[in-house]
Amino acid sequence: MKIEHLGIAIKSLETSDNLFAKLLGKSNYKQESVEREGVTTSFYQLGESKIELLEATNPESPIAKFIDKKGEGIHHIAFGVEDIRAEIERLKEEGFVFISEEPKDGADNKLVVFLHPKSTNGVLVELCQEKP
Ligand code: ZN
Repeated sequence: MKIEHLGIAIKSLETSDNLFAKLLGKSNYKQESVEREGVTTSFYQLGESKIELLEATNPESPIAKFIDKKGEGIHHIAFGVEDIRAEIERLKEEGFVFISEEPKDGADNKLVVFLHPKSTNGVLVELCQEKP
């Protein structure tokens, strides 16, 4: 595994894209909506890893709910894996709980699943695999 990206919940992409472009000294390489998840994402490449900014597209979005509860900030850590189904099986055997065990299409050409933060010390963990 490697740290593929860090997801950061933000209120406004317009504002935060400006902020992160200044902070990182580069522009995002992609902006993409995942309507099923109620998010618009913006990605920055940082060496092997990325920063993913997440803006809610509607009030029912998990990102809107997260910001209501906790405010803006780090939302999840994503581990890049070679074989997402094998990792799901391995982690289930280790006793980890998944929000959904079936990989779904995520942003940036990935298959993704999320582990429940209850089983990972309060950290929302995403596993992601490059789509074949
Ligand atoms: Zn992510």
